[in-house]
Amino acid sequence: MTVLEIRGLHVSVGGTEILRGIDLTVRSGEVHAVMGPNGAGKSTLSAAIMGKPGYEVTAGTVTIDGEDVLALPTWRRAVAGLHLIMQYPTEVPGVRLLDVLGEALAARGGSTAGLDQRIAAEAVRINLDPSLTARAVNVDFSGGEKKRNETLQMGVLRPRIAIIDELDSGLDIDALRDCSRRVEQATAEDGLGVLVITHYSRLFDELRPDAVHILSKGRIVRSGGPELADELERDGYAAFA
Ligand code: ADP
Ligand code: MG
Repeated sequence: MTVLEIRGLHVSVGGTEILRGIDLTVRSGEVHAVMGPNGAGKSTLSAAIMGKPGYEVTAGTVTIDGEDVLALPTWRRAVAGLHLIMQYPTEVPGVRLLDVLGEALAARGGSTAGLDQRIAAEAVRINLDPSLTARAVNVDFSGGEKKRNETLQMGVLRPRIAIIDELDSGLDIDALRDCSRRVEQATAEDGLGVLVITHYSRLFDELRPDAVHILSKGRIVRSGGPELADELERDGYAAFA
């Protein structure tokens, strides 16, 4: 059992406070959705948890099984079991997926035996054209291919906690279904804990949240069950502001 614990998290960007006291706990097998309008601070939350430069934590703690995440460089946060599926996946010219995943597994002290076959098997699961896995990571991929590729990496690395920032931006319905279904399967198969950030509840057709939290102006203003997403769909964010 893994626990990601966020307590009293305050984050500033360029001297402006964006997150103003976030408390969240994500356990193995649980799916927590953070929903909020544009500019609420959703991406700031994922950036702060993963240690993106420029995001200054001014107060609060983030721990994974009691280990201080904020004291670690980003790569060590990944080794500790955190995995980010980015809103806008980065293109990495000249670097193949096999190399990325080989290095990532080696950093974890894991075996790279049969990595080619593991990548191929994951590509099939997520309906990614296997020929794309031999090309430079994300370079000239379509929006859907990028998100499938990001999700494939999660499938191979099998992190303990996945942070998913707007999986639904830039991809079509089929890709969204394949990716969100794969993440849902990981919660059951591997006990993956998920922090999924989105402003549309259509993602929840496949990836079923246990809890929904509404983020507004840097604070969680309401937490509840999946029915909260329906309420939001009906009433909009203004009702919670
Ligand atoms: P969301 O993902 O919920 O749409 P963000 O976390 O991206 O929101 O942004 C929250 C607020 O922080 C916005 O007002 C945005 O302009 C500001 N912000 C985020 N990142 C930066 C940055 N790197 N520099 C300046 N302002 C930023
Ligand atoms: Mg965002």
